[in-house]
Amino acid sequence: MECGEQGSIDINKLDKFDKIFFDFLYETKIEKKEVSKIDIDEAKQWLEFSKTSNKLTKPIVELFVKLKKIKEQYGATPTDIGLDEYEIKLMAHKHKSTDEHGVSVGGRVFSALPIVENANIRVQDYINNHTKVAPSGFDLQSKMKKNREKIQKKLNMSDESWNSYAGQIKYAITSGEQLAQILEIPQKLIDDIQRVVGVFRMRISPYYASLIIPGVVNDPILLQSVPTGDMIDNKGINIEPVASDHSPARLIDQFYPRVLTIKATNMCAMFCTYCLRLDHISDKDWVSSKGTYEEALDYIRQDTTVRDVLITGGDALALSNKRLEYLFEELDKIPHIKIKRIGSRIPVMTPQRIDDKFLEICRKSNDIKPLRFVTQINTAQEITPEVKEAFRKLSGVTSAILNQAVLLRGINDDKIKMWKLCELLQECYIRPYYLFNCSFRNPEFGHMRVPISVGRDIVESMYGNISGDAIPRYLATAGGKIPLHKDNVKQINEGGDYILKKPWSDEEVPYPDMSMQEYNKSYGFENYQ
Ligand SMILES: *Cc1c(COP(=O)(O)O)cnc(C)c1O
Ligand code: SF4
Repeated sequence: MECGEQGSIDINKLDKFDKIFFDFLYETKIEKKEVSKIDIDEAKQWLEFSKTSNKLTKPIVELFVKLKKIKEQYGATPTDIGLDEYEIKLMAHKHKSTDEHGVSVGGRVFSALPIVENANIRVQDYINNHTKVAPSGFDLQSKMKKNREKIQKKLNMSDESWNSYAGQIKYAITSGEQLAQILEIPQKLIDDIQRVVGVFRMRISPYYASLIIPGVVNDPILLQSVPTGDMIDNKGINIEPVASDHSPARLIDQFYPRVLTIKATNMCAMFCTYCLRLDHISDKDWVSSKGTYEEALDYIRQDTTVRDVLITGGDALALSNKRLEYLFEELDKIPHIKIKRIGSRIPVMTPQRIDDKFLEICRKSNDIKPLRFVTQINTAQEITPEVKEAFRKLSGVTSAILNQAVLLRGINDDKIKMWKLCELLQECYIRPYYLFNCSFRNPEFGHMRVPISVGRDIVESMYGNISGDAIPRYLATAGGKIPLHKDNVKQINEGGDYILKKPWSDEEVPYPDMSMQEYNKSYGFENYQ
């Protein structure tokens, strides 16, 4: 379009956004102030650029941004500053006919740009504060490196031991006194840890201990790995372990029709202070014989409805590569098993475990039937360069990596902490999958629970503010996984229509529904029969 051709353009054919914008720009009733010469000159320059530049929208956008600003600041219309109304409308027309999607300059400047600005305001607090409120293992690298040097020296641990899973387990910290060697902790805590480890074991790999930041009272790594006296003092009525009423066969837990778990070991690289399988902590580590696994596999072989098997524990990666290879191979041989999962928190507690052999086993099995890796990371502080590297490698040999976090008091029960965790997971090849409300089942960690509503607010705050596939599903486990999300379906009016609430702004929008009557009528090509 040539802008000189006035006769061929109907400038009254502006869209509704342009019309609203022009009504605003040319509204004359309000009080006016004198416009600065700089602003007038700039507006004139942008008009000149807009007229002369072909196929560009940017000068026109700048012109109208300027005119909007002049109107807001001084109350002056374009005519007041000596710009020709016809030319201005012509530029609006030029914008709309230049833009591939036919976006008007009114739609862009008066509607879209303010929407983006408002959206950015919603995340400003997060952007400004996440490094302080929820530092990641990347943000804390220099401190963690110093911790590592100190710990390695105190434990007399070689680099080779540090870099191997066996070394991390061999040198694991299991008593209050050992912990006091590497961390300044009060005598009362040392005594309490000793009291707890008489009943529940403590085990912290030196690597995981190096993530604890000295001097932070409720450091989230400390809270997850070091038991306080509460753990014994809280011991109340002992609720039966999940397995007692959900285990149809040896090693197996099942309460759904098509998916079940094999609890292949009770071993873990670390014992979490809020573990739902707490009872296994008090036991000695066990590995089952092949015969035991065969009993579990036989159950799976005979139940042809099962399609998805989750190998868990304890921690599945506490098993040897050889054992895991055998389990994968056996499952891959069963025709009705279509997909598999392996559940492990070990890449977070001892990323050294993700060795080439294990990666090769995953690759082989994943090529036969999809293998998903399910892990548990609760804070950004647990995500270090080593952890990211482990998941980067895993992502190449599995069909998905999913995270199941537990909502924990003082650890991740905060909007900024949870946003940071979920965004960082995504950046480390992991999909946030579930967020569990910490269970009531075990009074031993009742003090770490968070009210359901706090978690609801946190999860709700993510909608519209971070990528949708970084938002986990919020659940309670109560004989199965039960969703706890807020409901944004506000009301149904008489016509069957809905009012939906936008979680990020509380704005309500009408949402006309498909009528049930229409839905049940014959459809599509059926009407030609
Ligand atoms: C969690 C769980 C599953 C898997 O549930 P999904 O919702 O498919 O992730 C299966 N069996 C048991 C016993 C479980 O606890
Ligand atoms: S890794 Fe899992 S099973 Fe092991 S102690 Fe932690 S929460 Fe429990």
